[in-house]
Amino acid sequence: MDMLRNFPGIIPVNKQASIYTGYINICNEDYRIHIELPDKKNLEELQFSCDWKLQQLLHGYTAILKQRLKQCTTLCQYLLEVKSLVERQLEGRQQVQQRGSSQVCAQLLGEVEHLGWDRLVSIDARFQTLELQCKDKKGRQHILKVTLSPQHPRVAPKCVVDLPGQFHIQWKSTSNLEWLYEQFEVAMDSYQDFIDVMEELDRKTWILEPEKPVYSATYRRIAVSTSVSIQISVDYRHPRVLPECRFLGADQAVVPLRESLNSNLHLWDEQKGLLENLQVLLGTELPSPATSSKEEFSVECGICYAYRLDTELPNQACSDARCGQPFHQTCLYEWLRALPSSRQSFNTIFGDCPYCSKPIKVKMPVKK
Ligand SMILES: [Zn+2]
Ligand SMILES: [Zn+2]
Repeated sequence: MDMLRNFPGIIPVNKQASIYTGYINICNEDYRIHIELPDKKNLEELQFSCDWKLQQLLHGYTAILKQRLKQCTTLCQYLLEVKSLVERQLEGRQQVQQRGSSQVCAQLLGEVEHLGWDRLVSIDARFQTLELQCKDKKGRQHILKVTLSPQHPRVAPKCVVDLPGQFHIQWKSTSNLEWLYEQFEVAMDSYQDFIDVMEELDRKTWILEPEKPVYSATYRRIAVSTSVSIQISVDYRHPRVLPECRFLGADQAVVPLRESLNSNLHLWDEQKGLLENLQVLLGTELPSPATSSKEEFSVECGICYAYRLDTELPNQACSDARCGQPFHQTCLYEWLRALPSSRQSFNTIFGDCPYCSKPIKVKMPVKK
């Protein structure tokens, strides 16, 4: 038998050809082996060692291999025996895996059937990831994205949801999709007040950020006037409590608003919605989509003429009341730095507004 033809990866490493080493390829996988053959005439004295992967595959077959070795007359013959044994092992494993995944598949279809097909939005070709829809009390659609474990239902699936808090699931080896769905409904219900409160803001004010609010987003940047916005961070567990507020805009416009907010804090009423409370505290009505257009508030930067620069919004405004032109911090900083008339002191640069030439200053942007 021809060693070189059958096992080109295994070569003798000494003149007597009593030691062989190299790789054996089985089902497109290389396994490292080492063979010592002290007496060529007596194959039974052969010492065979191999890498960990092959050891795993041959585990439990030592007696069989010994038996085969007795019947073989050449090393090549013996290696062919090893090879065919491993091939059968690998084939068997594949069948078990296929049977396993078709069982998961049948189980899954049964669970979806039970849950109701109308709740299934999508499922991938491998029957591993599925999206379930759920309507809340106000008829809003929520999606539960489930990735099943190959050992489903013994191992808990992974879930992705769009809710402000964590979604921890309870799971036992006898649990099913219906149980998961019920837990999602409970979680979803617990955020209804938060979603109601946020949705009122989204509907009745101009939200500058996030661009497209999702249920998990707990902050909003709301337009107050053309040059001022307020950013609020809402506690989703207590959505009607006074949120953290931060103003963005030119100082002379922000100062009176901040003063109004601080002096009216006692008027905050947790029985009311965020919108109503904010308007009371600011002493002004917030611009509404019913009476204005968003372009009035998403005023572009006076230097690059864009509104969004990466994630930066134009929140540096000229403090001259007649100008009030907003700029991106980065744009204004670069602009002033390039002019010889500007002067820098520590991390602040002082110069003239590119629009009205009145004095303007800007801090060096923090590199992200
Ligand atoms: Zn800009
Ligand atoms: Zn100006």
